[in-house]
Amino acid sequence: MIITSQKEFKDIIKALAKARKVFLVGCSECAALCGTGDAKALEAMKERLEGQGIVVTGGMIAKTGCQVLGTKTELKGHKDAVDDADVILSMSCGAGAQTIEELFPQKEVYTANDSLFLGNMSRFRQFDERCSMCGDCVLNETGGICPVTRCPKGILNGPCGGVRDGKCEVDPNLDCCFVLIYERLKKIDQIESFKNIKEPRDFQHSRKPSKLKVDTRGQARGYQPSEQREQEGEAPLALPIEGMTKTASKASVEGEAPSGFAGGGGDASPFK
Ligand code: SF4
Ligand code: SF4
Repeated sequence: MIITSQKEFKDIIKALAKARKVFLVGCSECAALCGTGDAKALEAMKERLEGQGIVVTGGMIAKTGCQVLGTKTELKGHKDAVDDADVILSMSCGAGAQTIEELFPQKEVYTANDSLFLGNMSRFRQFDERCSMCGDCVLNETGGICPVTRCPKGILNGPCGGVRDGKCEVDPNLDCCFVLIYERLKKIDQIESFKNIKEPRDFQHSRKPSKLKVDTRGQARGYQPSEQREQEGEAPLALPIEGMTKTASKASVEGEAPSGFAGGGGDASPFK
């Protein structure tokens, strides 16, 4: 999941400098689990914005904020409130915020959150970074433990000379991932693979921005760097919602369990 943290309120207010009416969009997936895009977060934001004299015209929790077509459909149910707002404040990850920006090319869209990393939730609202999405996965050779992410130096053939008592020299609170990999490979009787020297990663796989299609078996088809796509004349993804245009121009992870809205969809307004 994408781990998000709410920005400092003063920074949100700074971004909303000229806004008088705001519509809020959360997300029932990752942002809800982080407490940055669920009903509670939207309600708290509404209260704080109103305390600053800003009118909140409405709010919606998208089922999956990075799903452009689904979010577009859900937002249609909030057309009047969106039209009435001069700004949309996204309370999801950066991908969700850009869904809104694509859907409303003539409206100001801001984000309330910082997107931090791809993480695993080990306990309620405790997150650990486990994968950096390098596009060239080595987990099959490392006992399922990722050195790209878990070694601060990102080396593939370790450990470096700095490991001490199983701990990392960069951060002694961390176990050296190569010690973990070694122990794991021993347990699963694959210690031989520890001796295999890994080739340097192919950074072409992590070039940004990426775009790909997957087939019905989930395999990548049509992976292309953006320049190539443009040369081939592919139309940019722009799905403005008809009639929804108005003014032109452009890690809090604390709290309680997500409320009922966290698992809901975009038809529901978080505000009573
Ligand atoms: S090797 Fe790459 S894709 Fe695999 S877990 Fe690590 S960062 Fe993610
Ligand atoms: S001690 Fe281990 S985890 Fe830390 S930088 Fe060296 S190889 Fe990487």
